[in-house]
Order: sequence, then C-alpha cells, then structure tokens
Amino acid sequence: MFRLSGVTRTYRQKGRIVRALAGVDVEIATGDFVAIQGPTGGGKSTFLQLLGALDRPSTGAVLFDGADIAKASGAELGRLRAKQIGFVFQGFNLIPTLTAHENVDMALEPLGLAKGERSARVLEALAHVGLEDRADHRPGELSGGQQQRVAIARAIVKRPRVLLADEPTGNLDESMRDEILALLERLNAEGLTLVVVTHDSAVAKRARRRLRLDKGTVRDLAR
Ligand code: ADP
Ligand code: MG
Repeated sequence: MFRLSGVTRTYRQKGRIVRALAGVDVEIATGDFVAIQGPTGGGKSTFLQLLGALDRPSTGAVLFDGADIAKASGAELGRLRAKQIGFVFQGFNLIPTLTAHENVDMALEPLGLAKGERSARVLEALAHVGLEDRADHRPGELSGGQQQRVAIARAIVKRPRVLLADEPTGNLDESMRDEILALLERLNAEGLTLVVVTHDSAVAKRARRRLRLDKGTVRDLAR
C-alpha cells in the first residue's frame, strides 16, 4: 500500500534546520497492523503525516498504491484524505458543540452523498464502534474511551483503506485503552490497514509488525 524511498523531511526552526526524517525506506502492506515506536522527537508524527498525505517529503518518494504523494497536487491530496485515509489523534479532536452524530457526519461532507445515505452511514459507523445509543451526546457527555470511539467512527465512516493513529490511547486509562485496542484489532481483522504510533507496549504487542523511529531513521523490531 505504501512504499517510501529515500524520504527526508526537514523543518526550519528559528534559522536552524531540523531533520525530522533522515532517509526512510519502508514498505507497508495492505491489511497489515504496524506499530511505530521510538523516543519523543524521533520523527513518528512526521512519518504518519506523510503517510496521511497531510504533508509532503523534502526529498524522496511516498507512494500510495503506486502514486507519489510528493508529486500530487493539493486537490489530489485532499481527495485522497477524504476517501482513502482515516486519521485518529491522541486528543480525539472532536468538536465540543456538535453531537457524536454530527462529528462523524463531518467526515462525509466532501463526499457529496445524498442526505439519507449520509445519515445511514453515520449510524452504521457509530454502531460499528458500539455507540449507536450515544448518537445525540456531545463529547463532554462521553467518557474518554467513548470520545475516542466517536473519533474512530469519524475516521471509518468514509470507508477508508487505511487508518493512521497517533497515540490513540495516550489520554486513556487502562480499561479504556483495552476497549480501543479491541476495536482496532477488530477493524484490522475486517481488512483495514492500521498504522499506529504508540508508547504503549500493550498496543505494540498486539501489532503484527513493529517499527522503531529514532533520529529520523526507521528499523524493523523483532516481534
Ligand atoms: P515524534 O512524533 O516522534 O515525537 P516529530 O515527528 O513530532 O517526533 O518531530 C521530529 C522532529 O521534528 C523534532 O525535532 C521536532 O521538534 C521537529 N518538528 C516536528 N514538527 C515540526 C514543525 N512543524 N516545525 C519545526 N520542527 C518540527
Ligand atoms: Mg509525535
């Protein structure tokens, strides 16, 4: 699904050049469940943003199904994100004034679906994460684990091919973490490719493949 070759990403920070990625070559197969580990500042979020077409590399190629994200137009990247790639963050990133239903529905905005189809898909996604009875609740009325499940529903409602998650359990206690982990495993078993940045060894243990990103370079960790 992904093939990265010679990927670097440098940032300019107060006149200084920061090499967030210093030459990454890696492939990620369709259907895989990959955990990305490594120290803070190692380049994990930068790597995930490149996979998610949220950013472009400074040099090198990021192929998604053979097409180079580095060379795609802004509109093409937008279409890719709208249809193929789901993103989940540590802080859930839900809109506090909207209900769970409305938060999930937002992801369908760019797809131009008919209203009925749109509503059916939102309810199906909420049911998929076990929150069909919480559709009218706002984030403040839900537990952390439930909020993250809404965020996952928002990511999967567009039926993406890959789900990218940056520390999805970082703000959750152990029981809520297990709830999210079980959900991620179920989605992967259903065929969704998962790439999960995590500091949590319980999450990394369940992945099929573990990568370590340190000082902007990547290596495979033995299982
Ligand atoms: P991680 O997620 O592993 O903690 P990041 O990918 O966030 O690492 O960051 C890698 C390096 O790049 C760090 O040194 C960080 O300070 C730097 N960096 C990340 N994003 C930016 C940015 N937008 N501007 C400048 N420097 C950045
Ligand atoms: Mg990070």
